[in-house]
Amino acid sequence: MSLSIELSRFLIALSISWFVTRIPLFLLPRITLHDLPLVDHPAPLPVDETLVLQLLRVRRAYWASIPIGLVPIVLGLLMIIQSPSSFGFGLIVGAAWVLIARITPFSLEPTGRYPYSMGLIHELNRLRLEPVSCCSISSPTWELDGVRCTSCHTLLLAESRPDLGRRRSDNILAALMRVILLDGRPFVDAAEEE
Ligand SMILES: [Zn+2]
Repeated sequence: MSLSIELSRFLIALSISWFVTRIPLFLLPRITLHDLPLVDHPAPLPVDETLVLQLLRVRRAYWASIPIGLVPIVLGLLMIIQSPSSFGFGLIVGAAWVLIARITPFSLEPTGRYPYSMGLIHELNRLRLEPVSCCSISSPTWELDGVRCTSCHTLLLAESRPDLGRRRSDNILAALMRVILLDGRPFVDAAEEE
């Protein structure tokens, strides 16, 4: 069989496997039966219990890619055991690529080690529970590049906002591409602390 056919089989399998392993992050938070009362995308969100619950939900979807990614890996292994197969090899490489990217930390900071890290969720929960002393009527809101007080605009937490699994106001295909390509990571950099 010609090399180009083998190569295209490999690439097709790699793309399928890569996509299948990354899709749970987009799908799972959006197909839940009990929608949490979140502010519509893309408006900033108040830091409240709903936000913390939603973050935990998206975090579960993010890590669900580990067991889901094992499926193409096992399938690929079974194919390779039967006979040398470029398709099977592609399945393994695609899923392994996503899984290795998932378990590699992005930074040493506990809040930014992974998207939806527990460190970040704890920080947001702390802002929710402890009174913030920026002004008399403080209300922390998560904007794209960080948590700010709506009343006095003080930056309370310099962490940019990742995809939160809300129904997107933009085109579903564009939203899918954005979430899948960024893999949950925020679209903008965090605000600089003064
Ligand atoms: Zn304030």
